[in-house]
Amino acid sequence: MASIVDVFPARSDNYGYLVHDEASGRTAAIDAPEAAAIRNALQRRGWTLTDILITHHHVDHVEAIAELKAAFGARVVGPRAEADKIEGLDELVGDGDRVRIGDTEFAVMAAPGHTLGHIVFHDAVGQRLFSADALFSLGVGRMFEGTPGPMWEGVRRLRELPDETMVYCGHEYTESNAKFALSIDPDNTALQARAAEVGALRAEGKPTIPFNLGEDKKANPFLRADAPELARFYGLEGKDAGEVFGAIRKGKDNF
Ligand code: ZN
Ligand code: FE
Repeated sequence: MASIVDVFPARSDNYGYLVHDEASGRTAAIDAPEAAAIRNALQRRGWTLTDILITHHHVDHVEAIAELKAAFGARVVGPRAEADKIEGLDELVGDGDRVRIGDTEFAVMAAPGHTLGHIVFHDAVGQRLFSADALFSLGVGRMFEGTPGPMWEGVRRLRELPDETMVYCGHEYTESNAKFALSIDPDNTALQARAAEVGALRAEGKPTIPFNLGEDKKANPFLRADAPELARFYGLEGKDAGEVFGAIRKGKDNF
């Protein structure tokens, strides 16, 4: 049996996710943005929360841990490298570890840069990646901690995941990401197509996630930091892709 994902809005622009393993009946929340939104989703589905998987220490991803843990006694799994910044973690994981929710298995991957200890959860069988703020549709999270080189390396590893992977990210930032991406990569037809699709979805008030990783590889400038067009845009021809990645990140910060 497989797993089912429930997607729902939380806070102002976060997404909340529940992963329900059909065989065992276990249900995991990916991050804990808002207790009320998570409780509503559980109630709507008739599921009981058993696990919480945390990606990074920011308040909009951890705030509901205490309340949900008290209400459901859920097991909380989170990044070892941020254990000192997150209250209520029961199990600590890092790159290469695996987390089981019944028959559903996630590989933990390090994706540093938005925060230094940021981790993401990849379900290879279900072809799903829960990327939180490490990878957005057409963008990546702001680089609050760390340096461009390691952040690019982390993103490049996510790019190696299969094209069929559907990505469930932490925020609805796609439309503004598209505007920036078009400003630096205007001739990219895959990007133009995705931007048009995103504009239409948002005009109807629809979410732009989950999104297909294969399509994002062709359209997201941060996944294309080693493309010659982008090096040329920033006058960095022949330079290291990590340097180009840093220039793109800085460009987005100032956009
Ligand atoms: Zn964050
Ligand atoms: Fe966030």
